[in-house]
Amino acid sequence: MDFEDFTQDLSSLEVISKDDKKMSVKLKGIPLQYANALRRVCLNGVPVFAIDTVDILENSSVLPDEGLAHRLGLIPIKTDLKRFNEPSKCECKSETGCSNCKVMLVLDSGDTEATRTVLSDELTSEDDSIKPIADNIPIVQLAPGQRVKVECYARLGRGSEHAKWNSANIAILTETDKEDERILTVESTGSLKPEQIILAGVEEVGARLSEFKDMINEIEA
Ligand SMILES: [Zn+2]
Repeated sequence: MDFEDFTQDLSSLEVISKDDKKMSVKLKGIPLQYANALRRVCLNGVPVFAIDTVDILENSSVLPDEGLAHRLGLIPIKTDLKRFNEPSKCECKSETGCSNCKVMLVLDSGDTEATRTVLSDELTSEDDSIKPIADNIPIVQLAPGQRVKVECYARLGRGSEHAKWNSANIAILTETDKEDERILTVESTGSLKPEQIILAGVEEVGARLSEFKDMINEIEA
């Protein structure tokens, strides 16, 4: 079976188990190199949102500015692939981005009276569908009198560029006792549903293959 046949017939993906975070599907009759390409794309080739740039307006915490920006970058962000473009493919063609490729999130701890931890639920997003996947992710600890105030910009990116854009925590292939049959298991970071990752992964591998074929054809022509 060719990968193109496979992508045209997604019903050949048999779901073995599935919950909100993790999904296993059976890959039947798909050559190992395609199965492996799909596994890798599920891990770091499907675009998800992450905070990319941070303007620090105030930071009197003990965490240096770069440390604070790094922590913010690692927070998994809920992703809507239908509504947003990757900046390189967005029609705005602008460095600063537009509302179709960039989302602003702001955080202002206010004045701190007792030692406390600033959590991800204090990040306010201008777009309701693009926000941290959980409310209780720790960002920074503040002592009395300390404050952080930041403006963050999140965008779609891929884990192949930086691990903060990884779409899955885990993507593994396991052999079964049948020949030419493997199980692909994908555990999402929470930004996308596991089935969204697998479907986007199938599309991505298909697109890369056809790009490659076109390239070969051009060389041969
Ligand atoms: Zn744009």
